[in-house]
Amino acid sequence: MGCLPGYPDLQETKGGHLRVFAWSVLFLVLVCPGIAQTPARPEKPNIIILFADDLGYGDLGTYGHPTIRTPRLDQMAAEGQKWTNFYVGASVCTPSRAALLTGRLPVRNGMASPVHRVLFPDSRNGLPASEVTLAEQLKKAGYAAACVGKWHLGHREPFLPTHHGFDSYFGIPYSNDMDNITDFEAVGGYMAFWETEAARDVNTFHVPLLRDTRIVERPADQHTITRRYTDESIKFIETNRENPFFLYLAYNLPHVPLFASGDFEGRSERGLYGDVVEEIDFNVGRILDRLVELGLESRTLVVFTSDNGPWLIMDEEGGSAGLLRGGKGSTWEGGMREPCIFWGPGQIAPGVVSDMGTAMDLFTTFSHLAGVPVPEDRAMDGIDLGPVLFEGEPGNRKEMFYYRGDELYAVRLGDFKAHFKTQSGYSPDKQEHDPPLLFNLQTDPSEQYNLNQSHPQILQQIRNAVRSHQATMVKGPDMLKDRG
Ligand code: MG
Repeated sequence: MGCLPGYPDLQETKGGHLRVFAWSVLFLVLVCPGIAQTPARPEKPNIIILFADDLGYGDLGTYGHPTIRTPRLDQMAAEGQKWTNFYVGASVCTPSRAALLTGRLPVRNGMASPVHRVLFPDSRNGLPASEVTLAEQLKKAGYAAACVGKWHLGHREPFLPTHHGFDSYFGIPYSNDMDNITDFEAVGGYMAFWETEAARDVNTFHVPLLRDTRIVERPADQHTITRRYTDESIKFIETNRENPFFLYLAYNLPHVPLFASGDFEGRSERGLYGDVVEEIDFNVGRILDRLVELGLESRTLVVFTSDNGPWLIMDEEGGSAGLLRGGKGSTWEGGMREPCIFWGPGQIAPGVVSDMGTAMDLFTTFSHLAGVPVPEDRAMDGIDLGPVLFEGEPGNRKEMFYYRGDELYAVRLGDFKAHFKTQSGYSPDKQEHDPPLLFNLQTDPSEQYNLNQSHPQILQQIRNAVRSHQATMVKGPDMLKDRG
């Protein structure tokens, strides 16, 4: 209130007070718009989670990519909060999605396995019915809930989104490179396949497109899938404009194979990968525009992030983790630290946030906003990000546990990260470290300068954190191992 001037002509009459009040309001609106628009924590806001697949930390303009143009996401970041230390629960698709939707480390709910890293088209199981999803949480507060896009938490009927709290589903139920009709031996192996013409043909990937539990197209036309997912999402927003809604829109791209529509193919200086990201950016813009046209932007929160880091073994068809080390599949920062943008005009305090946050925190944060208690009968791994999002306060997250499958590889405590084990995303080069490698992520985000000799007290604190984490860890039954 320091910018309010004095009012020497204050009168002791009711009318005088009203005049002073009216002038004060006018002054606030005209001269101090920042104060007049102080962000406010919304009650039961609409919630939209936009989830890209294999988009890296360095793949958006606002996160420093020099040639991929993402004006809508850049604008979203400028108007909202851009997080620079935001993590997902795992470095590959299935466990990362389980973490996002349940607010729990995937090792707890059986979606992390020493046998298989993700679910496949012949996998028998999926996310257990005993897990509480964010959709089920929000339904308790009267939300409508739609899942659009990639699911990858079980494609057999009992595991589909409509059995996990969503009212509807429209999407490809697993990764867009699955159901490949190629005989890999005949073309010289899996990696050699990507050099063939067939890898650019959408018909090579015989993936189904489902509406609720029914296949409506196969193979799905992936050239138009980003646009069609967005069309479906906008229809859901329009239908539910009067009541609170939860939209979980998980784009299948830019996971390889890459497909863009005619409007975008050949447009980006970055090549096909850039075309695909720019098409996603355009479609995110369509959703934001429609929210504004419907007057919903002041009671809707939108968050954009990605399920894991870039698929580096795909060379130019994979993305970039920017200055972070490693990518998809690894517990280096590039595998699990993601771009994350929160947008909610008049609600989110704009800024760049370097505090730690995770995808698991979204479950807790959104449950609180909806007024639904977080389950108390199980271990939860999320915290409420509300104080950072709406009041601009410092974050409360101090720890981050990095699992590969069901094994703990690394731990972050405050600024420091200790690697007990390291391994590239897709190589059997596993190494164990005793003492663990130690990096200060705030001063050395690229994990280049090992400090384990000079900071024994930090290492001890991290070992203590590991001990208490493991003392209460109960692993779920392996839901990924059974196939065929
Ligand atoms: Mg992925």
